[in-house]
Amino acid sequence: MDTTTFTRKTLGLETVEPALTPPIGKAHTFIKKPKIGTDKSKTKKREMPEGLWTKCPTCATMLFDKELDDNLKVCMKCGHHFAIGSRERIHSLVETCTFEEMDATMSSVDVLHFKGASTYASKLESYKKNTTLKDAVITGLCKIGDQRVALGVMDFNFLGGSMGSVVGEKLTRLIERGTEKGLPVIIISTSGGARMYEGMFSLMQMAKTSAALAYHAKNHLPYISILTHPTTAGVMASYATLGDLILAEPGAMIGFAGPRVIKDTTQAELPPGFQTAEFLLDHGLIDAIVSRKEMKTQLIAYLDFFTAGKKTAAAL
Ligand SMILES: [Zn+2]
Repeated sequence: MDTTTFTRKTLGLETVEPALTPPIGKAHTFIKKPKIGTDKSKTKKREMPEGLWTKCPTCATMLFDKELDDNLKVCMKCGHHFAIGSRERIHSLVETCTFEEMDATMSSVDVLHFKGASTYASKLESYKKNTTLKDAVITGLCKIGDQRVALGVMDFNFLGGSMGSVVGEKLTRLIERGTEKGLPVIIISTSGGARMYEGMFSLMQMAKTSAALAYHAKNHLPYISILTHPTTAGVMASYATLGDLILAEPGAMIGFAGPRVIKDTTQAELPPGFQTAEFLLDHGLIDAIVSRKEMKTQLIAYLDFFTAGKKTAAAL
């Protein structure tokens, strides 16, 4: 090593050492540490195509979206049931080309001129645009197996599946049509409860749908209620729990009030798994837990059971 040079440097006679000090512009990029969220990390993110993979919240497995869709949005590894839209659900249950939709154009009205952080009218508009649905339920007559049924399917994507006048009216008309035509009724629920934007008008739907179901039952027709994640509040307190047979999807959150409200009211610790489908099955509130993939086969079996007497009578 050239000791002479070394000594000169430490004396501080030459403060600038050109070989080690790049020009100012370059020095900036040379010293700067890469930050999270810089251009580099963005480029890296872009390399992974979005919307192709979904992480399972239960088992953390990365699931290929196409395979997840083919599996009816049920995790291939642990069986976690992801949310599914009303159209996909109808497609998974109903025989091809047999679904005749009822009241497809019925849409909510802002009767109370509700104003909050945003108006009800503007909420309706944005949900209609984003979901391409008119409201939180699709109803119609269709065939499941060789059975003709009246089917109503709620959709959580539209204002949390809340029950307003349109949901109540569409379901009531469906039940009444089922009664008129002597058909079993199946309602698949997912809901946060009554729609607060419609106040009393949404609460009235609880009584209206229940009355229609009572009339349907009086005609000795079966009603199957299927509870999916989550089914709560006003919907749970009306048609969702009135089924002759009440089924639920695995792991679904089902209840009336939220756990915190119950805890505050009862001043008691809630048991583990409270308000899950499994807990409710153990305590007798529901009749069976049926996985989404088994739902169609099971429904056909249940419908056959319910209508066996009628078929025998018709054959005689
Ligand atoms: Zn999983």
